[in-house]
This record gives sequence, C-alpha cells and structure tokens, in this order.
Amino acid sequence: MPGLARGNIEINIEECKGCGLCVESCPPKCLALADELSAYGVHPAVYAGDGCTGCGICFYCCPEPGAITVFRLAAPPKTVAGSRGGQHAPAV
Ligand code: SF4
Ligand code: SF4
Repeated sequence: MPGLARGNIEINIEECKGCGLCVESCPPKCLALADELSAYGVHPAVYAGDGCTGCGICFYCCPEPGAITVFRLAAPPKTVAGSRGGQHAPAV
C-alpha cells in the first residue's frame, strides 16, 4: 500500500525552459519532460501526479524563478500508540 502523499507541486509552463534539471534531481523520480512542446518551443517539466515528498529539491535547482511551486502537505494528526481514539472515563 503506498504511503500518504507528503507533497505536491505546480509547474508554470510559461516560465519553464525545459532544461530538465528538476527531472534529474527529483529523488522519487516523479517529474518528466512533456512530449509536447510549449509555446516557447521547449519540452516543459510535468509532474506524474503522485510520489512527491515535498522535499523542495526541484525548486532549489530550477534556474527559473516562479517555474516550480512546492506544497508540503499537512501531516495527519498523531495518535497515541495503542489508542483507538476512545473516550475519557466518566466522572464519578
Ligand atoms: S519536491 Fe522533491 S519529490 Fe517533489 S517533485 Fe520536487 S524534487 Fe520531486
Ligand atoms: S528545472 Fe525549472 S526550467 Fe528546468 S525543466 Fe525543471 S521547471 Fe523547467
């Protein structure tokens, strides 16, 4: 069973120059260059749709400001081990 997604990204194809640095640097390999050309005649980066950990490496290696936005998803609330989310004992 796959783990919960920890991140998500958006790529602005108006800013992407198709250099591929983000594709090479993404640890879980969830980025690729599109088969289609953008209006600028380059193959822009695209996100596979899942697998992003929110690490931000693609953001830091991208030479184009504004091409990539990384979102770190909120972690689910932690529960105490063994707890089933029960109720407090009734007051006596
Ligand atoms: S934030 Fe990290 S895991 Fe997500 S697409 Fe960028 S490099 Fe890959
Ligand atoms: S590093 Fe930036 S400019 Fe290069 S392909 Fe990725 S999003 Fe586009």
